[in-house]
Amino acid sequence: MNPTLVTAAFAAALLLSLATQLWLATRQMRHVSQHRSAVPAIFAGTVTLQAHQKAADYTLAKGRFGLLSTAFGTAVVLAWTLLGGLDALNTVLRAAVMPAWGGMAYQLALLAAVALIGGLIELPLEWYSTFRIEQAFGFNRMSLKLWLADQAKGVLVGALIGLPLAALVLWIMGVSGGLWWLWAWAALVGFNLLLLVIYPTVIAPLFNKFEPLADEALKARVQALMQRCGFAAKGLFVMDGSKRSAHANAYFTGLGAAKRVVFFDTLLQRLTPGEVEAVLAHELGHFKRKHVTKRMVSIFAMSLAGLALLGWLAAQSGFYAGLGVSPNMSAPNDALALLLFMMALPSFTFFISPLMAQVSRKHEFEADAYACAQADGRDLAAALLKLHEDNAATLTPDPVYVRFYYSHPPASERLAALPAPLPRTATP
Ligand SMILES: [Zn+2]
Repeated sequence: MNPTLVTAAFAAALLLSLATQLWLATRQMRHVSQHRSAVPAIFAGTVTLQAHQKAADYTLAKGRFGLLSTAFGTAVVLAWTLLGGLDALNTVLRAAVMPAWGGMAYQLALLAAVALIGGLIELPLEWYSTFRIEQAFGFNRMSLKLWLADQAKGVLVGALIGLPLAALVLWIMGVSGGLWWLWAWAALVGFNLLLLVIYPTVIAPLFNKFEPLADEALKARVQALMQRCGFAAKGLFVMDGSKRSAHANAYFTGLGAAKRVVFFDTLLQRLTPGEVEAVLAHELGHFKRKHVTKRMVSIFAMSLAGLALLGWLAAQSGFYAGLGVSPNMSAPNDALALLLFMMALPSFTFFISPLMAQVSRKHEFEADAYACAQADGRDLAAALLKLHEDNAATLTPDPVYVRFYYSHPPASERLAALPAPLPRTATP
């Protein structure tokens, strides 16, 4: 493999994806500000001008910040790779750790150091997003103390889960020869399934409180819906989402018969029981139409393809040299290969994101149709509008931006696809 070719392909993908992202973001911002002055005709009477303009301003604020963080993120990847950051860190750690502690310790130290440095670099951006943007629009409910505690817990949980997994993968890479990627894939799939099982009971409670749903009337209604849909879940829970943010949500968590339904307390405060039922029916639609299974299978298939590609790349010296790192033939280079792959891959996979977004939007329409068959379509429409307004999601996104990024169809398309007429809920 010719290192110059690797460098050229990577630099081209990095720049092209950066340019595309900046172009799309500017399009979106221009489109939103051009439509800021009036509520779109189909929402007239259901959305106030004030809510519409708040959504526009929120989208613009996030857009401006997005431009900055996209450019910054690209600079960071460039600094790690072609500008020699990873090479320098690797040289220091290899000399410091390997002689005394061995190859595995050196590789784990390298992975941990890159993760820590990357996290520290991201920290100011996250702070700004939470305490400047979210705060300014009234969404943030976190104190600085809670935010810092979250970060610390995140690092701890990340280390407890990430280090053993990394050690397992590195060990497989070291001992199982040319087909290591197949074994590593099997290990990752098993690990992911395990994580799905322990997430609701072990990890999520570290960050939030979960209480059984106490509202008996709503409980009966939700249970009747699940029975109608032939769906088994192990409990309905309310999560204190309001501890961090005013954004509302509901989701399923866990695997197989251990699935739980989780409602954010913010969702229950805002929606009527009928609307909660319709939102849940939509989520059930994702299971009933096999979206959840399909998504999991496609993620596993893509990671197998990715690991097979890495299996080939990791054996080419041009792969390392082309991305700015000189491997040492007397030391294991598996951690280096993993890191370079994770840094370079997003610039290439960015270009398939419209495809994934397209599939996801199709699934959303199908889940909406399912919800309308099992619950009241008018309730679903009313809930969608409320959630849009509460999340200050823009009603006038740029069509090209939507095709590229939106995992959910824009409100206008979604409501137009529902059988029920638009509800009239806004107060003038
Ligand atoms: Zn959905």
